[in-house]
Amino acid sequence: METRNAFRYNHMRIGPENLPNAALDNLEVNKKFIKLLKKRKPKRLDLLMQDLHDEEFDQMDCLTCANCCKTTSPLFTDKDIASISKKLRMKEVDFVKNYLRMDEDGFMVLQSAPCTFLDDDNSCSIYEFRPKACREYPHTNRKKFLGIADLTLKNAEICPAVFHILEELKKKLPL
Ligand code: SF4
Ligand code: SF4
Repeated sequence: METRNAFRYNHMRIGPENLPNAALDNLEVNKKFIKLLKKRKPKRLDLLMQDLHDEEFDQMDCLTCANCCKTTSPLFTDKDIASISKKLRMKEVDFVKNYLRMDEDGFMVLQSAPCTFLDDDNSCSIYEFRPKACREYPHTNRKKFLGIADLTLKNAEICPAVFHILEELKKKLPL
């Protein structure tokens, strides 16, 4: 199974249109890989992830994708809400009422997808003051990567860059 998938996606660039099938094809293999990763805790993992993240985003043009902005919502912290409302010259209470809702875990998220602030050309109309979660997405260069390994598995279904990073990680760290 692993060999077949490694062969199929080895040199293939995956875009948002073919990501659902590719992610589904690799799901079981990736789950097992993340499980082994958590068990073995490779020492150089964070450095390797940083390199893979940089290499991937050197070639990935997010403006041709925007799948994160189209399909999921960032979490809005109080600080995000205060700063975005201020920049939009809105009262915080109105910003929340117009755009946000509380999710089942008590986090503030967008009322709808795609994101209200996503323009037709895939650019973000509040880019300079977008939420922290948007600035840090998809978190693949974060320190202590193992702590977000499960989230990365989930993000491989949303973000082609994460899918590619995981494929490269499996090649660099055969477990
Ligand atoms: S972060 Fe990932 S999902 Fe979002 S636009 Fe870039 S490649 Fe696409
Ligand atoms: S605020 Fe901007 S970056 Fe964040 S989801 Fe919306 S369009 Fe995307």
